[in-house]
Amino acid sequence: MTNAWIITTSNQIASLVEAARAIGPVTVIALGDEATGIAGVDRVVTIGRGSNAPLEAFAPAVNAVLEAAGADIVFAANRPVERVLAGAVAARLGLPLINGALRVSAGEAEVSRFGGLTQESISFPGGAVVVLEGGAPVEGAEVAPEAGSEEHYGASVSAVEAAGSGPANLAAARRIVAAGRGFKAEEDLQIARDLAAALGAELACSRPLAEGTAWLSKDRYVGVSGMHVAPDLYLAAGISGQVQHTSGMSDSKVVVAVNSDANAPIFEVADYGIVGDLYDVLPAITAALS
Ligand SMILES: Cc1cc2nc3c(=O)[nH]c(=O)nc-3n(C[C@H](O)[C@H](O)[C@H](O)COP(=O)(O)OP(=O)(O)OC[C@H]3O[C@@H](n4cnc5c(N)ncnc54)[C@H](O)[C@@H]3O)c2cc1C
Repeated sequence: MTNAWIITTSNQIASLVEAARAIGPVTVIALGDEATGIAGVDRVVTIGRGSNAPLEAFAPAVNAVLEAAGADIVFAANRPVERVLAGAVAARLGLPLINGALRVSAGEAEVSRFGGLTQESISFPGGAVVVLEGGAPVEGAEVAPEAGSEEHYGASVSAVEAAGSGPANLAAARRIVAAGRGFKAEEDLQIARDLAAALGAELACSRPLAEGTAWLSKDRYVGVSGMHVAPDLYLAAGISGQVQHTSGMSDSKVVVAVNSDANAPIFEVADYGIVGDLYDVLPAITAALS
């Protein structure tokens, strides 16, 4: 039976575990101090605990574990450190790297292409390194970890400064309020933050708010080149609904759209649509929830 491997810097790996379980026994390579409390797998190997080297520098240690085992199916969470390590592992093991997979089954992955216009099926009979969204934490008793190699490239973190709000966890969010270019100014995002707080939701956005204006961090934008999310509720405010955006949120259970343009494409994927000015509609919903 083939063993499956997961590379992660956090315990939010439920989607990876589900995909890996379909292949065989699962070993997690857990990097850094945040990747604790991992449950629902067969083995956990820790690397880089308590170290001041950046986790990306531990590629030699990750490769050592995988090479010794002759690994041929490796999953990595779709997060910055894991993507770097996935590339290093794929190069070392001589395996194809399948980035941003939406779904994985035995020997096959579905990947979004051309800004979400097509979905490509890729088969990998000889194994692969597959990057896909991590998901929520796996519930259950923590698997007792064993220490792996600590070999890393020569780099160390010399200073850490707080930089505003913490990282978003959209992949695990059950409710999301997403803001688009319908917001006219950065400070206006407070309207979306207020609604998100009232709903117990994470704040997300379309790409222009993260890459054009940088009003929100890049880990908060949803879409084909951003995060793929599947919450119970996705409320899109001032987002037109281009396919590059909707391909990242189309697995949401309930979609609510607020847009002043009745012909906006977002209404085609919405379960509930409100044609109106978000500057009126969002505060009204927040007030109704309070
Ligand atoms: C290769 C490629 C990859 C891309 N990847 C992504 C991606 O991953 N994610 C992503 O989001 N985009 C992505 N894009 C960009 C995408 O094509 C769109 O340009 C982008 O999603 C548009 O963002 P938006 O809907 O916020 O802005 P717009 O398209 O400008 O829409 C703004 C909407 O707000 C509405 N509006 C304006 N004022 C108000 C108001 N007061 N109240 C209510 N509604 C109002 C307007 O009617 C309009 O529908 C990608 C593009 C390319 C080419």
